[in-house]
Amino acid sequence: MSHLTEIADGIYQLRFTLDQARFQSRVYLVAGNRGAVVETGPAIMAPSIVEALRASPGGLDGVAFIVPTHLHLDHGGGVGALAQALPGATVVAHERAIRHLIDPSRLIDSTRMAFGHRFEEHYGPIVPVAPERVHPAADGEMLDLGGRKLDVVYTPGHAPHHLCLLDSRTRAMFVGESLGHYLPDTGLLVPSIPLPMVDLKAIFRGINRIQRLNPDMLIFSQFGHSPDTERLILEAKRAMAATSRIVLSRLRGGGSEQEAAALVLAHYAERASRLDPQGPLTRFSGAWAGTTLQLVQSLRDYFRKRDLL
Ligand SMILES: [Zn+2]
Repeated sequence: MSHLTEIADGIYQLRFTLDQARFQSRVYLVAGNRGAVVETGPAIMAPSIVEALRASPGGLDGVAFIVPTHLHLDHGGGVGALAQALPGATVVAHERAIRHLIDPSRLIDSTRMAFGHRFEEHYGPIVPVAPERVHPAADGEMLDLGGRKLDVVYTPGHAPHHLCLLDSRTRAMFVGESLGHYLPDTGLLVPSIPLPMVDLKAIFRGINRIQRLNPDMLIFSQFGHSPDTERLILEAKRAMAATSRIVLSRLRGGGSEQEAAALVLAHYAERASRLDPQGPLTRFSGAWAGTTLQLVQSLRDYFRKRDLL
């Protein structure tokens, strides 16, 4: 059981360290008669996930569902590889994600944009899932795990096909990247705004929806969980608003994208040092700094499309 940490009743975080993968998201198991793996990370993680699942209460046969919150490389890049290793499991994704699971060619193109042309060397390949292994999930659908259910909550914005899952037994909610990245060491929440362009309005609608559902625990794919749900949901709104304000005002003032990215980074470095004055800032900036330029470019495209820039 050393690979598993139970973080709520029957919800396990799968633990392993992979030096090769520079970006990771957490992987969770919701145990039931028909259990669900939530998130897969990139393909390079699949063998370690299988090893951890072998030690889980239901073993490999206890996994009936593989559910990525969305298909970005660090969340669902390994869906195809894990599906091959778990032939009895059904891949559940939002209906808008299904065609990319079956034919990942466009997904591979956008992954190259976000993670570089040689992403496969670090993260493993994105491989297709056979159509008969896939179940398209609609908003409001319930996945019956036997003894508990997972409600599918459609929260586009970060990605057009992003979904969250609310567990009926614990009222814990898997929020993927809808609220941003939570850095448990500092308690800091930072926005997650990837390329290509995000939908900022949809992100706020998604956050409001999570707030209305009033979960008892938030389970982040990056990088932890917290029962401090009300504060973190408000913080997610504040962070998203502050970040877009900083970027819009700098670009409108003629600043470069690099300058806007540096300002965003400085904003969160300052917040991190306030939350954890003793903590080395490298701990924060190392985890997130590399993504700030993409964040600026994604917001730039969003603002341009709406004639705000
Ligand atoms: Zn993502």
